[in-house]
Amino acid sequence: KEFAEISVTDINKVANSSFPLCMRHLFEKLKEDHHLKHGGRMQLGLFLKGVGLKLEDALAFWKAEFSHKVGAERFDKEYAYGIRHNYGKEGKRTDYTPYSCQKIILSTPGAGDHHGCPYRHFSEENLRAALSKMGVGGRSMEDVMEKVRNRHYQLACTLTFEVVHGTSCDAGINHPNQYFTDSQNILKL
Ligand code: SF4
Repeated sequence: KEFAEISVTDINKVANSSFPLCMRHLFEKLKEDHHLKHGGRMQLGLFLKGVGLKLEDALAFWKAEFSHKVGAERFDKEYAYGIRHNYGKEGKRTDYTPYSCQKIILSTPGAGDHHGCPYRHFSEENLRAALSKMGVGGRSMEDVMEKVRNRHYQLACTLTFEVVHGTSCDAGINHPNQYFTDSQNILKL
């Protein structure tokens, strides 16, 4: 199911309902800045591939955003390669897999980077604001923040999932694409 196809239009729809906070943040920043640095392009790009965005659609999606900032020509010259590379069409032709939570949590985003795990890398203020936008509040907000303080980032994400979907997630969240698939399965019921 992970590699079922999805269109660019659908991506915009499901981003709001089924992306975990890490991908939601990258997606929003991409739409806002029409740009993401390398770490963000990798984290979001491979996630979208896992969600089922085909190579041609991925190229169209990234080009539409980046063109606002760098122009279509520069996109083709400097950025298209990286996307084809993620899909195993360039270089060593490795078919790269989307990053797990563990890998994302252990990443070290620098200034201007938007990748990483918000539960681990956001300030408390920014995390509260982002969670609030997802509809997390009151007691649930404090429960999530307590998990974060205890460095249980994936448990914090699991709690968020449960609040947003109004149902339990017994398996826990260990991969952004699992979050997505579980969410879609619930929403499609
Ligand atoms: Fe993303 Fe995993 Fe962090 Fe959730 S716990 S925000 S899915 S990296």
